[in-house]
Amino acid sequence: MSNPQSYLEPLVVRGRISKPQPKGLPIVNLGFNELPYGPSPRVAEALQATLPKTYAYGSPYCDALRDGLAAANGVDADQIICGNGSEELLDVIARNYARAGDEILISAYGYIQFEMCARRQGASIVKAPEAEFMTDVDALLGAVTDRTKLLFLANPNNPTGTVLSLEELRRLVDEIPAQIMVVLDLAYGEFVDDAHCGSVHQLAQGRSNVIVTRTFSKAYGLAGLRVGWAHAPVDVLPGLYAARGMGSVNALAQAAAQGALQDMQVVNARVAEIICERTRVAGVLTQRGIRVLPSATNFLMVTTGDAVRTEALVVHLFDDAGLVVARTREAGLENWMRFSIGTPAQNDLLLESVGRFLER
Ligand code: PMP
Repeated sequence: MSNPQSYLEPLVVRGRISKPQPKGLPIVNLGFNELPYGPSPRVAEALQATLPKTYAYGSPYCDALRDGLAAANGVDADQIICGNGSEELLDVIARNYARAGDEILISAYGYIQFEMCARRQGASIVKAPEAEFMTDVDALLGAVTDRTKLLFLANPNNPTGTVLSLEELRRLVDEIPAQIMVVLDLAYGEFVDDAHCGSVHQLAQGRSNVIVTRTFSKAYGLAGLRVGWAHAPVDVLPGLYAARGMGSVNALAQAAAQGALQDMQVVNARVAEIICERTRVAGVLTQRGIRVLPSATNFLMVTTGDAVRTEALVVHLFDDAGLVVARTREAGLENWMRFSIGTPAQNDLLLESVGRFLER
């Protein structure tokens, strides 16, 4: 008898730190685009209040959280579904709209999980070329075929950090054939400016083929709790629920997310600090001859100019300062690395360590 045969190509697991920090320094992970802050006061309170009730399932349809999200975002609660991180929702959407023989369209350097969603469904991934690491709407439209079922677009994008203007986004949703489901992933939308997320929800409103995904993992700093949500046409929701587990958003996560919505002043102040630090770090690195892509997120994608040197910098940052950054895995981004903007002190650590690398 032969062994069981998986339908999936195995995933190359990366990023595990397999050696101790040589100087015994604390390790700072700047590789996952997380926020560097602990729970805000209302989040901490909500978690404390929910702890004695861990015997109970969270609300299967996240009713209170959806009401909170609806009020905060001007979106109807009946058009919202929550998930175990927005990652789960991307997968749930792919399960609804793509199968073997179908095509999922993305921008060339689009978020790596889009490709994973396609693989899990046995669907083909089609990548539209970018110009200067920026999504190209004409290239996306030109790559549409009669097999295209789904378009995933992160705006701003990970790992490039670049963002398409609202006008270009509007042109894309206006011109793409209506039978294609368009997913606008706003994981980093809060780092563009105050208006970006609201404008994208408005763009989606009333269209039958646009879904907007959001997350509490980035601007809200709750990555470890796993809460994401989607704003979708009302008739799309039942299919999404059919593809999602009943208990996928746990009770602590729901409580914390509701707490975070009560703490918007803290959330906004933290986002403002990250944006300010992003400008500072990008400025210093550029001055030192490192190429930095313009970023509308909480991370920067940078290059020394060649793959070997960038690899050496990644190793140096860990050995010299305990900093973990991400090598970009996407084909064509071999020369680049990506790191999250941390606290001012963490950013100083990074800048000083880069300085030592350049002087050696
Ligand atoms: N979309 C993008 C573009 C991301 O970078 C990420 C996280 N890396 C996600 C979605 C998923 O985030 P989460 O599952 O934590 O909501």
